[in-house]
Amino acid sequence: MSGLKLTIDTAAWRAHQRALVDATPGIIPVAKGNGYGFGLERLAAEARSLGVTRLAVGLPHEVARVREHFDGDIVILQPWRPLDAKAVELVRDPRVITTVSRLEDIEVLGNVGADFRPRAVLEVLTSMRRHGLDPEDLAAAEAAAALLDVEGWTIHLPLHSEQTVAEARELSRKAVEAYRAPLWLSHIPSTTAQEISAELTAPGEDLPVRLRVGTALWLGARSAYRTTASVLDVHEVKRGDRIGYHQHRAPGDGWVVVLSGGTAHGIGMEAPTSGSTVRAKAISVATGALEAAGRALSPYTIDGRKRMFVEPPHMQSSMVLVPSSAQPPTVGDEVPVEVRMTTAAFDEVVEA
Ligand SMILES: *Cc1c(COP(=O)(O)O)cnc(C)c1O
Repeated sequence: MSGLKLTIDTAAWRAHQRALVDATPGIIPVAKGNGYGFGLERLAAEARSLGVTRLAVGLPHEVARVREHFDGDIVILQPWRPLDAKAVELVRDPRVITTVSRLEDIEVLGNVGADFRPRAVLEVLTSMRRHGLDPEDLAAAEAAAALLDVEGWTIHLPLHSEQTVAEARELSRKAVEAYRAPLWLSHIPSTTAQEISAELTAPGEDLPVRLRVGTALWLGARSAYRTTASVLDVHEVKRGDRIGYHQHRAPGDGWVVVLSGGTAHGIGMEAPTSGSTVRAKAISVATGALEAAGRALSPYTIDGRKRMFVEPPHMQSSMVLVPSSAQPPTVGDEVPVEVRMTTAAFDEVVEA
């Protein structure tokens, strides 16, 4: 194999999924985008083995990718829009649950067909200010329920903090007071979600809470998967030799190593952008500084260290420099490469 490779320790990966699902009543696994690096089809199959009854995708066109691999309901997270033909078509699919986020869409959606009632969850606008009904407009749910099968309220929160929990509590209360339906939450701990639900549930009432989880489920066990690249070529260079498309000069004696993985695989996207930790910030400052000097730290580890890019990654391969003080690799070696899983595209996924 000469491409970018993802190796999954399936036993460890599944043990983590099982533990998280067991600890999260009402969990809805999320499989969207690049399938968190694993692929949508694979995640749908995992969700099937986990025995969950619902799976969430991001976009309407992702439904077709998962529906053969999963038997339960499929929730589309991106809110429904009347101009999206695929979204409109899917409303008729009895396995699909649509997200509605605007007052004007409730009526249009409710009138897509006279012979059935679309299944929907109503989204509440949070401090994220992405999508959702204004909290002042939640009373519209009563009328919506005449046209739609309202399966719940969806509340998509910013990343977890004390403030997020307070917001989740407040919006959940408003929503459930406006119309009694299950709460579908994201990005709060399961125990907190259960607490909120319990506070709002009347005696004898069944008001389950559902949590949509992607990252923590698929990427939560860091040691359960690893990413590697193949060494495609190794060339000895002397200080000052010209190399690469840009004909930069080698900064010292050593080797140019050509590796699998380029822009098409998402290589070069792995630098932290949100800078959440001091270390991440330090890395991005260091990387930026090197970029300014014409070179950047690559995500490839050779002889125990991340090595410098010769130049930005190419479409399907990358060139890095290994100084003469290090041990050069051999063609065919597999070396660790750090990738951002939500932007990565692998040539090969192997279950170990
Ligand atoms: C993507 C998404 C999630 C999953 O987010 P993770 O951080 O990957 O767990 C949950 N809820 C909604 C509405 C989403 O769009």
